[in-house]
Amino acid sequence: MKTFDTIAELREQLDADRSAGLAVGLVPTMGYLHDGHSSLIDAAVAANDRTVVSIFVNPLQFAEGEDLDDYPRDLDADRGLCGAAGADYVFAPAVEEMYRRAVHTVVTVPGVSAPLEGVHRPTHFAGVATVCTKLFAIVGPCRAYFGAKDWQQIAVVTRMASDLSIPVEVVPCPTMREADGLAMSSRNVYLTPAERTQGPALRRALAAGIAAVEAGERDPATVEQVMRSLLAADAPDGAVEYAAAVPADTLVASGPLTGDVRLLLAVKFSKARLIDNDGVRAG
Ligand code: AMP
Repeated sequence: MKTFDTIAELREQLDADRSAGLAVGLVPTMGYLHDGHSSLIDAAVAANDRTVVSIFVNPLQFAEGEDLDDYPRDLDADRGLCGAAGADYVFAPAVEEMYRRAVHTVVTVPGVSAPLEGVHRPTHFAGVATVCTKLFAIVGPCRAYFGAKDWQQIAVVTRMASDLSIPVEVVPCPTMREADGLAMSSRNVYLTPAERTQGPALRRALAAGIAAVEAGERDPATVEQVMRSLLAADAPDGAVEYAAAVPADTLVASGPLTGDVRLLLAVKFSKARLIDNDGVRAG
């Protein structure tokens, strides 16, 4: 496995690979990798001839006062996980390599960026869309693997690639969970022991919301209340930022639930902010 820290060298390698007829898979990450990331690497390795994992804590997607400086980092362990999962290349650029000058060009994806995460982290998706545009430009034509845990992120990146005619196929992958149901996340290390016991409540709240829809409930506010009640009882130390039951495509509530519905949660604990989601079909 080769590690690259410059854009030019990675681009040269991947251009040569594609010229040799090899298909490229990309797994964009912020590092501190866990089994959720491994599952994306597995999917990329299975479907492509060369897999590159990018490891870059992107300052642009953190707002003032968020955890940019504290974000956990361990490049040696990450390289070990990438190698064990069968990745061919790690791309781990310094901030100065990715952003050589003050950033003037920013990619925004209005609409799908606005609700849910967009309300609570208004600048986040512009940072994500900008760094993904750069990664797609650096890596070139490829398949790019993203986790369903960050459902709205997939919607933003898919729309961005489509609108800008970028020759990258965005491939969604299932959420990997701890044995008790907590979605794996690099930020789970921020949970206190008491909060860690409450984390799986998000999964149970989603299950309760899905059960309500499956039992015929079509009022989004009622489904949201079902999820909020469970969180109030089982995750009392968390503040619910949103609990939503929305159309899976627009992510904006519009009358009674119908078709593909997505349930999404964000809960803020003392330092960790947990998100999770799941889907259900409303007849
Ligand atoms: P991050 O390093 O947190 O920015 O995540 C990098 C990629 O891994 C994103 O596409 C995430 O959605 C994905 N990811 C994070 N956690 C999980 C998980 N528990 N299961 C599957 N994919 C995940």
